[in-house]
Amino acid sequence: MKKVIIIGAGAAGMMAAYAAASGANSVQIIEKNEKCGKKIYITGKGRCNLTNNCDISDFFEHVISNPRFLYSSVYGFTIEQTMELFSKELGLRIKTERGNRVFPESDKSSDVINSLVKGLKEKGVKIILNKRAEKLIIKDNVIKGVACGNEIYEADAVIIAAGGLSYPSTGSDGDGFRLAESAGHSITETYPSLVPLIVRETWVKELMGLSLRNVSVSFYKDNKKIYSDFGEMLFTHFGVSGPLILTASSYLAKQIRSENLTMYIDCKPALSEEELDMRLLRDFGEKKNCHFGNSLGKLLPRKLIPVVVKLSGIKEDKPVNSVSAAERKKLMRLIKNLPLTITGTGNYNEAVITKGGVSVKEINPSTMESKLIKNLYFAGEIIDVDALTGGYNLQIAWSTGYMAGKSISE
Ligand SMILES: Cc1cc2nc3c(=O)[nH]c(=O)nc-3n(C[C@H](O)[C@H](O)[C@H](O)COP(=O)(O)OP(=O)(O)OC[C@H]3O[C@@H](n4cnc5c(N)ncnc54)[C@H](O)[C@@H]3O)c2cc1C
Repeated sequence: MKKVIIIGAGAAGMMAAYAAASGANSVQIIEKNEKCGKKIYITGKGRCNLTNNCDISDFFEHVISNPRFLYSSVYGFTIEQTMELFSKELGLRIKTERGNRVFPESDKSSDVINSLVKGLKEKGVKIILNKRAEKLIIKDNVIKGVACGNEIYEADAVIIAAGGLSYPSTGSDGDGFRLAESAGHSITETYPSLVPLIVRETWVKELMGLSLRNVSVSFYKDNKKIYSDFGEMLFTHFGVSGPLILTASSYLAKQIRSENLTMYIDCKPALSEEELDMRLLRDFGEKKNCHFGNSLGKLLPRKLIPVVVKLSGIKEDKPVNSVSAAERKKLMRLIKNLPLTITGTGNYNEAVITKGGVSVKEINPSTMESKLIKNLYFAGEIIDVDALTGGYNLQIAWSTGYMAGKSISE
């Protein structure tokens, strides 16, 4: 019987413990919080989007960093197996929603946590709360245990599932990286990802809370388009957020750190420049006795109009019928290319995920075992892998956690 210590009772740690305890092992989880799964609690806006019921090839398309590293673990513990484990073994009723997103039927993330904790207790896993793993005990490149202050927990195998840096208030505050580094592991550069973007233009404040649907955004570096996408975005106090922007932050995190990018919002992507110009002409025709400032109500959301009017340089009280063709063209181009200068991303307090982490080159992808220290394993967000929103990141935690636990129990 092996003594297994798991650091962290998040998604990866609990799944790893469940798999390790399925063999004849004595499994203990050390968690520094007062309860398990503090981050799971806030996932999916409190509903926990626990996986994505998509084809496996589709899954890997949503993994942004090091998808190949995940082949063995995700094929070894698939989305289907994850859903089956939750619904059949752990008794959690689940449902699949739009975009293949899987949630508990109750819409309560606490039910996901409770089902896992109950499953762990049934398997005899001991959960030690309010205890911080401070040091790894390693002799001759073999893990021997974990130290929490003066207390030593001896172990035949240790899994570090301590998360990354995002939402540090949930417990993932970089401890895992420090422990990994102490064992000789390299940590690739880390970035807040799936995070709002900060812009230079102060007018965004006036639009705070405004959500734009069916818009497209394009990012430019040195006048060259480097990224574009279509969907829904949101203005915040300091910049932009929403699904479209969070996804962009994942692709562009590295560039945004090193230079300012320009982002253009196409508020009317369904209309060509000519079509939008015709549309403006028509709207102006219907409002010919109005001021220019009152002529855009049919075309743009109410909150956006004063900003567009100001940026257009056309006087708000100018009669619509005296707006020149050149002014109208400039306005049309502005609506198709509303410019913003991206100066940075939000910090880890607002980032759904950490990009970067323990280098995948130093972990065996089939077992999650360290290539440097025998019987030391990694699982979850601590590893340099990350995906887009939609349940993919939790699936990474479930699959890597399961593989680490299973490898030990075998
Ligand atoms: C707001 C938000 C919403 C999200 N929504 C979704 C979603 O709906 N779907 C999805 O797929 N993903 C979502 N994610 C991402 C997902 O939550 C993470 O990918 C996942 O929780 C990572 O699991 P983990 O177990 O690796 O790390 P964590 O969940 O961070 O767990 C790490 C645990 O280790 C503990 N720990 C750390 N250091 C120590 C130490 N020294 N000693 C003892 N314990 C320690 C921590 O307290 C913590 O409990 C969301 C993230 C956020 C922030």
